[in-house]
Amino acid sequence: SASPATLDTVMERIRPGVRNESPYLVGAPPRAEVKLNQNESPYDLPPALKAELIETLNDLAFNRYPAEQPSDLAEALAVHNDVSPEQVLVGNGSNELTYLFGLAFIAPDTPVVLPAPMFSLYEKVARLHDADLTTIPPRDDLHFDIDALVAAVTRTNAAMTVLTTPNNPTGLALPPSDLERVLQATPGIVVIDEAYVEFNEHPPATELLDAYPNLIILRTLSKAFGLAGLRLGYLMAHESVVTELMKARLPFMVDRFSEAVGRTVLQHPDLLNERVQQLKAHTRHLVDALSARSDVTTVPTQANFVLFAPQTKHADAVQDALAERGVLVRNMGGYDALQGYLRVCAGTETENKAFLDALDAVL
Ligand code: PMP
Repeated sequence: SASPATLDTVMERIRPGVRNESPYLVGAPPRAEVKLNQNESPYDLPPALKAELIETLNDLAFNRYPAEQPSDLAEALAVHNDVSPEQVLVGNGSNELTYLFGLAFIAPDTPVVLPAPMFSLYEKVARLHDADLTTIPPRDDLHFDIDALVAAVTRTNAAMTVLTTPNNPTGLALPPSDLERVLQATPGIVVIDEAYVEFNEHPPATELLDAYPNLIILRTLSKAFGLAGLRLGYLMAHESVVTELMKARLPFMVDRFSEAVGRTVLQHPDLLNERVQQLKAHTRHLVDALSARSDVTTVPTQANFVLFAPQTKHADAVQDALAERGVLVRNMGGYDALQGYLRVCAGTETENKAFLDALDAVL
């Protein structure tokens, strides 16, 4: 007869693919005086709008399930992007939808190709599903190596590849011609993550949806829309692809309040535009100030953040010294290609000044 479980036998039941992972941790206190480490918007909703939304809480039945899939919000997002509602799938943050890609496209040993450096969740999803993962190192200027990526996607017959544009953590964006090169090179799925699309100078990838049934675009309301705390993201794809992805999807992932807030925010395009313009100006100011320093190198950005490398002091020490002054930035040393790099996102004018003053004091 079987012996009872011990902690060891329980641990052995957990797939090695899971046990070998590390949890996703930002590794910083959730609050700081000047928090510029997670590419969030520094702007919460205007108090009047927030008060209006809190009023609507009274009309929301907490005891009833939300829609299996939030079709009203999907519809509003479809209008926002000039696609059909059947092409939209809303998620509990876009992070949640990356797990759907794993479930739908990656069986053990499925070839997956990812350029580096890239938002780390994609690699995690590929590993968790035991993909046969090929990582493509960047060019010397940190741009994705599209030639090598296309070659690898073809050679491995990749089931999925991912492009992030503008890319996190570099801020570099791909021209539409590069996106099309990859889409044309492979019959596999090409995810284009446009989390920072509102800051991009290139046109959005939605204009490629009609021509490429293998294209999935990922978006979030966590950045320009300023809703990171509520968890709303979405994807856009061919409606037949969305229909299939629905089958793998958990129901009820978007709660009633998040849906209501998402719909309200989409009714205020002027607010979004105004904030995007402000954040673009703030980012330009950060880039100008950092570029003016001879003791720092910066990477050109098309997002709401800037990657920079202190030249005279170790990045870890600079990060710590900034934190001691209440300023949080992200350390990118965990990426092979980004040793010595820190990433700072645009905050309010006051926050940016506090960051630049603290950097002055530290360097
Ligand atoms: N994609 C990229 C490229 C990101 O940088 C982020 C945020 N770190 C996300 C997706 C996750 O966004 P969400 O808050 O919608 O899960």
